Amino acid sequence: MAEFRAPPGTHDVLPPESSRWERLVALFARRAGRAGYALVVSPVFEELAVFSRVGEETDVVRKEMYDFLDKGGRRLALRPEGTASVVRAFVQHRPLVPFKAWYAAPSFRYERPQAGRYRQHHQLGVEVLGTEDPELDVEVVTLAWATCRDIGLGGVILLLNSLGDDACRPAYLQTLTAYLAERGDELCDAHRERAAVNPLRVLDCKREPCTNATADAPRLLDHLCEPCRDHFGRVTAGLAALDVPFALAPRLVRGLDYYTRTTFELQSTALDAAQNALGGGGRYGRLVEALGGPATPGIGFGLGVERILLAADHEGVFAAPASTVAVWVVDTTGGAEATALAHLLREAGISCDRSFDGRSMRAQMKSADRAGARLAVIVGPSEVAAGTVTLKDLATGEQEEIGREDVAKLVEERLR
Ligand code: AMP
Repeated sequence: MAEFRAPPGTHDVLPPESSRWERLVALFARRAGRAGYALVVSPVFEELAVFSRVGEETDVVRKEMYDFLDKGGRRLALRPEGTASVVRAFVQHRPLVPFKAWYAAPSFRYERPQAGRYRQHHQLGVEVLGTEDPELDVEVVTLAWATCRDIGLGGVILLLNSLGDDACRPAYLQTLTAYLAERGDELCDAHRERAAVNPLRVLDCKREPCTNATADAPRLLDHLCEPCRDHFGRVTAGLAALDVPFALAPRLVRGLDYYTRTTFELQSTALDAAQNALGGGGRYGRLVEALGGPATPGIGFGLGVERILLAADHEGVFAAPASTVAVWVVDTTGGAEATALAHLLREAGISCDRSFDGRSMRAQMKSADRAGARLAVIVGPSEVAAGTVTLKDLATGEQEEIGREDVAKLVEERLR
């Protein structure tokens, strides 16, 4: 056994699995780019306060953060989620609004490792700062939804809720707190004491005592003020107009504290309840101010890469490609010919690889097979003498000798 292993809750992503990551990120980047979002790369660690301002009452920040003192005595933390870092960067650099950003980045949470739950996971996300327009909510939710659809997931449910705003939420919280106070004894151990501190979190609890006790709890959707009700109406109408199916989820409050109005989650029907969240997000009204910027509305989401790929496995979609390269260059003259031919093909935009270490013809052909190559370009002493190469179709076994100067053109044709 190896002396060192990846730390608990982390994992290496090796080929061919890594090719799925590459495709997923590329697909997301393309989709976000088409909608005017640009890549933002921010540090993997920030001052601890950046994250603690965001979610003082959340488990992610209270219990699961990887925080540490650096050698200069700064209190830092590894990013537990994507939003706070992008908002911190926005406040620091003040780009023009609306500011539309996408990211693909690792997040760190000291959770109990289990299937689909890691200490380092990866998120694809977007954040938009600077507009309150509900049409943007429609755009953002649709982007998350369509990303899941792009990779072929069928069993995805979009849950939608509104958390109201500073005008209507306080009164609702009082109503909810009173309701929970009467049922304090019935709540789960974790929430019996915290219900008064953060009553919304009780609605989010998946444990049976809490779900039973809150089955008839007052719904925030029934207590929205008129502007919040209008906003939510525009969002649901917009999604319906784009044929994005959704279900209202009055209990959906999500993990972090700063959400206002639209909040949403994508769940996979192919995964167990403990790990079925593929991603989620929503509007945040006060976060920019909390990090020292001017009052600026924002909205965003994070999709979990590992979860999406897990759901894809369960649904049997988005498999890793069987081949790594289209062409294998086989050289029985020592290897320098393969270097030249591979270079020539790669310069022409054709994916190809070759063997090293002067392996036998048989071994090289075996490697071609293992790589899933469709064609072999074979060069031996007689081809070198004649200025030709042999082109072999690895599926049919057919082969032809062609002029070396035509190799890129003909390979391209045969691959078409
Ligand atoms: P959250 O910020 O908690 O809403 O997380 C956004 C998404 O990231 C979730 O819906 C999951 O898909 C994924 N995610 C969150 N925590 C983990 C974790 N510990 N391991 C794997 N994926 C996670």
